[in-house]
Amino acid sequence: MTSEAPRLRYLPNTLSPPCISTYDDRKGVIKALEEAIYDALTLMNSQTRLHTFGSDKLYTGNVGISLMYMRLWKQLGRRFDGVHFETLAKRLIPNLREPNLETLHVQVSPWLGGCGAAFVKLLQEIQLDDFKNGPDDTAMTVIRLNLLSALDTYPDPVPHEVLCGYAGLLWALLNLRANHPTQINADLYSDDKIETIVGKIMSAGEEGAESYSTSGLMWELRQKPYLGALHGVAGICTVLLQIPKFLLDPIMPRILDTVKMLCDSTRECNGFLPSRIHVAGFKEKNEIVQICHGSPGLLILLATLRRLRPQEWAACGVFAQTLDMVAEVVWQRGYVLKGLGICHGVSGNAWALLSTGDTKWVGRAVALLLAARNMPPLGDDTRFNLPDHPWSLFEGVAGLVAAWAEAIVLLENCTEDLCLGYPGLGGMGAKGFL
Ligand SMILES: [Zn+2]
Repeated sequence: MTSEAPRLRYLPNTLSPPCISTYDDRKGVIKALEEAIYDALTLMNSQTRLHTFGSDKLYTGNVGISLMYMRLWKQLGRRFDGVHFETLAKRLIPNLREPNLETLHVQVSPWLGGCGAAFVKLLQEIQLDDFKNGPDDTAMTVIRLNLLSALDTYPDPVPHEVLCGYAGLLWALLNLRANHPTQINADLYSDDKIETIVGKIMSAGEEGAESYSTSGLMWELRQKPYLGALHGVAGICTVLLQIPKFLLDPIMPRILDTVKMLCDSTRECNGFLPSRIHVAGFKEKNEIVQICHGSPGLLILLATLRRLRPQEWAACGVFAQTLDMVAEVVWQRGYVLKGLGICHGVSGNAWALLSTGDTKWVGRAVALLLAARNMPPLGDDTRFNLPDHPWSLFEGVAGLVAAWAEAIVLLENCTEDLCLGYPGLGGMGAKGFL
């Protein structure tokens, strides 16, 4: 009797990172990324079905593609003749409807919840139009109702992670207030509101730490103590690191405990961040390397900590040692067969490497990003899966294009102004784009 070997989640990475040490070296890479963006957008716009599936979810719908165009407007401006990213961004916002209050409280985050289109609409009015016509009344109502249900107490607990829960909502509010738009009633994103949401996240994190006996904060999603970026601890902590300083300072010791805990778990597993905290009876089936679960999420968290809190970073040598360890795992195991997406695919892993800003890891990120040109639906390398939503922000081409644009501004040394960070997580502080 023969038993089949388990199918690998990745291809052995034999890619060669391009040289990016001088600006002359980087020019060729930037040109290749620009061409990739132009070709991908041309193909994307030829897909007529794109404009008919009409979902208002940022994760898989047209709104996510709209957010991608908004980021391109900021990062790339008018570098392609005749392409107006702002027009394309506005065209993909669906007609907003007032939400059903009964369902709102289950998912308060804009990524999978019902308020994504409203947030993107308002952010576009601020960024693209300087409020010539806004703010849109329905968008304001949706966000207000969403906030009310998030702050209210319901029998069903609201999750705390990025894609469905409070951390995602917090990130959206931080971005809404990033430009201090006077046309929006500041009560929507006041210090009080931010503090209340942070308080809910922190008290649940302490409860979780007690019930799982962990040294750092712990949260559950559907009774599972996930550790990764989009459903768990790493992502929640990344967002918390970007709240205003007067709110962050008092909770900083517990965030540091939590980052140390994640580093310890990861070092015990040779650089692989487990998808969940180890509890009796749970065995990791395979080492998962993708943003939503696994080491790339810890890499973004560590890069954020180093950038925004350099003193605390320097005080603990384990952080720096772990960063290089997880970056190596992301590079070696990040050429994953799930395809080109930013959530569980190759471009998300590349984005985690980009987030470090270190020449060594940025070069490797670019190698993965250029390789993604060959994956479906852009290329015909069918060893890689076609994503379920092939053109979407989190699973498909739109996310890859956003990653290419982020790489271009990083290679052009525009980091301060123009790097926006991974959608939903940031890493550079809130800049008004999600
Ligand atoms: Zn995923």
